[in-house]
Amino acid sequence: SPIYDVVVVGGGAAGLAAIASLQKRQPDLSIALVEPASQHYYQPGWTLVGGGVFSQASTVKPMADLIPKNVSWFQHAAAGFSPQQNTLLLADNTQLSYRSLVVATGLKLDWQAIPGLTESLGTQGITSNYQPGMAPYTWQLVQQLGRGTAIFTQPAMPIKCAGAPQKAMYLSCDHWLRQQQLSNINVEFCSAGAALFGVADYVPALQQYIAKYQIKLNLQTNLQAVDAASKTATFKRTLADGSTELQQKQFDMLHVTPPQVAPDVIRQSPLADNAGWVDVYPDTLQHKTFANVFALGDCSNTPNAKTAAAVRKQAPVVAENLLGLLNNQKLRAIYDGYGSCPLTVERGKIVLAEFVYGGKVEPTFPKWFIDGTRPSRLSWLLKEKMLPPLYWHAMLKGREWLAAPLYPDNLPTDRHTRSGADI
Ligand code: FAD
Repeated sequence: SPIYDVVVVGGGAAGLAAIASLQKRQPDLSIALVEPASQHYYQPGWTLVGGGVFSQASTVKPMADLIPKNVSWFQHAAAGFSPQQNTLLLADNTQLSYRSLVVATGLKLDWQAIPGLTESLGTQGITSNYQPGMAPYTWQLVQQLGRGTAIFTQPAMPIKCAGAPQKAMYLSCDHWLRQQQLSNINVEFCSAGAALFGVADYVPALQQYIAKYQIKLNLQTNLQAVDAASKTATFKRTLADGSTELQQKQFDMLHVTPPQVAPDVIRQSPLADNAGWVDVYPDTLQHKTFANVFALGDCSNTPNAKTAAAVRKQAPVVAENLLGLLNNQKLRAIYDGYGSCPLTVERGKIVLAEFVYGGKVEPTFPKWFIDGTRPSRLSWLLKEKMLPPLYWHAMLKGREWLAAPLYPDNLPTDRHTRSGADI
């Protein structure tokens, strides 16, 4: 079989954006894509599906329609990586050889870590916008609830789109408020985290909505188990002195954000760090051990917010550096850790969190246009009307609007100094 210039593993946001950015720069590359799924999901839309704003159908497209014609598509899962040999094995035992590898498998939703959840999800008032196809059930539950207790959970970090557990809650509360039902519904937010949101600048605006909707905020309270028959959820709460206690809570509606881990195939491979994620430099996105391997999106160990917004900025960096490597040049492009989380605090208003590595706030727009730390109608318009076309027609097509890489004069000295010629 041929040796591909590039094998891309995963045709989600990250894999397809990387292919588009590579082809834009060098159209004649031979590229293979390894992707088992026949559907591609626009996951950032699921919050709005769960809030009754978008249809589920608008968030799904056939994978075949999105893969460029001159890319060889292998519709199987990657089953094993041998980066020393520059090969990988697919689930059907096909072996692929490459000059360079892009890993973009996303992450694994670890439903099984919470006993009782796998079998009950999608029934008995138990839902999750994270599960493909389940956001419509969230919206159905929200419309039906009327009275009772609604609990929204958030596990330990890292998770993709860290604001999404709250977004689901605020949009639900907004509906109940408009229907004059909120006073009959006890809403609780149970988060494993110690703060409402990881970047402090956005917390005051969110706190106002916690107060407005009279949400009971339970921090350091981590979901342990669900019993669907009795509609009871068990939480482990960590107290100020570090001790823990188990708490049981009855619910009528339970929106779960599951624990999220690296995919098994990555975890078990030489590409993984100790926690199981692909071990890349946070700036160049090049693998720390295997210089012709790059990773982007949710599967990597870079400490940015795991979002499609991050992918938008990462894809051009991977394309630049990978081609630099193949063409025997030094790597030049770096990613600053940009991630974004449009927090839907009510229908029609968003708190637009945008930040880079270290939790440093870094807005795209000037403050007079959009002040990200305050609820904004313009931000909602951006999310509802602008971001979906930006995703489908720009990011997945190699039009790198608002996504230019940075080119520092010098990279940190511990980075690979080898170029493609040495590999
Ligand atoms: P994915 O898009 O998940 O794609 C991974 C792909 O890899 C899939 O196609 C999968 O089939 C494939 N794959 C898996 N295993 C293998 C294998 N072994 N071999 C080959 N292929 C494999 N981001 C934002 O920017 N803004 C938001 O508002 C936002 N809201 C969100 C709300 C929700 C409810 C959720 C769930 C996510 C949200 N995100 C948001 C996050 C965003 O969707 C992800 O960060 C983004 O999709 C990451 O892209 P990815 O390609 O790394 O992973």
